[in-house]
Amino acid sequence: MYRIGTGYDIHKLIEGRDLIIGGIKITHERGLLGHSDADVLIHAIIDAMLGALALDDIGTLFPDTDPKYKNADSTILLKKVQKLIKEKGYHIVNIDSNIIAQAPKMMPYIPKMKEVLARILEISPDNLSIKAKTKENLDSVGQKLAIEANAVVLLSE
Ligand SMILES: [Zn+2]
Repeated sequence: MYRIGTGYDIHKLIEGRDLIIGGIKITHERGLLGHSDADVLIHAIIDAMLGALALDDIGTLFPDTDPKYKNADSTILLKKVQKLIKEKGYHIVNIDSNIIAQAPKMMPYIPKMKEVLARILEISPDNLSIKAKTKENLDSVGQKLAIEANAVVLLSE
C-alpha cells in the first residue's frame, strides 16, 4: 500500500542565529529562530513523513517545551522519524519539496542538501527533489522576515 503525506513549516529570520537549512549551514547575516536549530526544510519533510502514516506531528513528537530539544540538530530528529517509518514497515518512494526564501539564494546549496538528506533517509538523491523559490518580494517571506518550506512524501510498504 502507498501512503502520501504533506508538510509545511515557517521560521522567523533573526540576527545572532546560524542559518541551517537541509542539514547544512548557509552563509548569511541572519538565521532562523526556533527551539531546535530551526531547520525549516527538515521540519517540513518530517511532518510529511509523519502525516503519511497519520502519526502525531513534529510538535507533539519533539515538543518545544522539552529542554532536550533546545538547539537540537534536526538531522537527528529526521533520522529518528526515518527509523519510525521503517519500524512501521514502510520506506520512502520519493520526496518533493520547496524552500521559499527571498534571500539568500538557496540554489548553490541544494546539491549538498540532497546528498546529506538522502544519506540520512537511505534513499537515492534521484528520489529527493528540493526546489528553491522566492516570494516575489510579497508578504513576510518576500520581505526577508521568514523562510518557509513545504514537502510531499510518498511511502510504500
Ligand atoms: Zn520548524
